[in-house]
Amino acid sequence: MLSEKGSDPLRQDAKTNQIDLPPMGQTPFRNGAHLQHVNPMLPAPTHSPRPRRYSAHFALRTAVLLCCMLGRSSQTSGQEYLSGIQWERPPIVAPGQTDAMPPADAVVLFDGSDTAAWVNGENWKVEEGNLVIGRGEIRSKEEFGDCQLHLEWSAPVPASGSGQGRGNSGIFFMGRYEVQVLDSYDNETYSDGQAGAIYKQTPPMVNAMRPPGQWNTYDIFWKAPRFADDGSLRSPAAITLVHNGILVLNHFELLGDTPFHRPPRYEAHGEKGPISIQDHGNPVRFRNIWVREIKPPVGTQVREPFLRDGEKEIPITTP
Ligand code: MG
Repeated sequence: MLSEKGSDPLRQDAKTNQIDLPPMGQTPFRNGAHLQHVNPMLPAPTHSPRPRRYSAHFALRTAVLLCCMLGRSSQTSGQEYLSGIQWERPPIVAPGQTDAMPPADAVVLFDGSDTAAWVNGENWKVEEGNLVIGRGEIRSKEEFGDCQLHLEWSAPVPASGSGQGRGNSGIFFMGRYEVQVLDSYDNETYSDGQAGAIYKQTPPMVNAMRPPGQWNTYDIFWKAPRFADDGSLRSPAAITLVHNGILVLNHFELLGDTPFHRPPRYEAHGEKGPISIQDHGNPVRFRNIWVREIKPPVGTQVREPFLRDGEKEIPITTP
């Protein structure tokens, strides 16, 4: 637990309880030295003779009080841990009016007006502010690496077809890794092909579907795979998916791409790629599509981690 300078109860006790402070660099009270009178509420020491019983009572009360204070001081140690990292101040990002609306630093891919952000967007329809699947997949003109994607989708009404034939679409990261979109409300299919699945790799942890015609939200946190110069995989892609406010994929590490006809595999590609939406022949609707690039906090290790205790700096030794 951190204890801010100035909030150390020992310092306050030093003021209010008239501790005789030692020279700089020594810690009062903790080493038991220089303590003249702990608490003014207690009877002051006196040189007049007291009955033996009173002295024992006084000693007991003092011992109890000291135990309480020492216990408290161990909970709020005067030592503070410092990482030695100099952090840049995180940038301010104004959030949207609601969590569905794009924050100030988002790239808006669809806001209800047009399909200008998409390759092949002219072959899809915009109806009542919704983007409706038309002919062929659409692909974002801008490319993304690690990113946060928000979108909302609604399965066709009335529901028609079954299994993979009902309300099928999909969100592809970097053109090759599919998060399934499917009307999985009261619609049986193979688990690793239902809504929220990484296609043919993992089902979602739960089925969080709303009925056809209602809006589903996907909040996706995507970590792109990394490749070495020789094309070998350095680290796999990972995905976290929140479906209608419910965590359904928790940093799942992908085994590779997500084709229908063969096992997943990785093939080296660039650091960024488009976000695509699949045309599977069903008129699924979309709205509020925006994406943010993920930029980790920036810091510089300017010195080794250490503990601070007043004026004293104590190096941290590893066992
Ligand atoms: Mg699909």
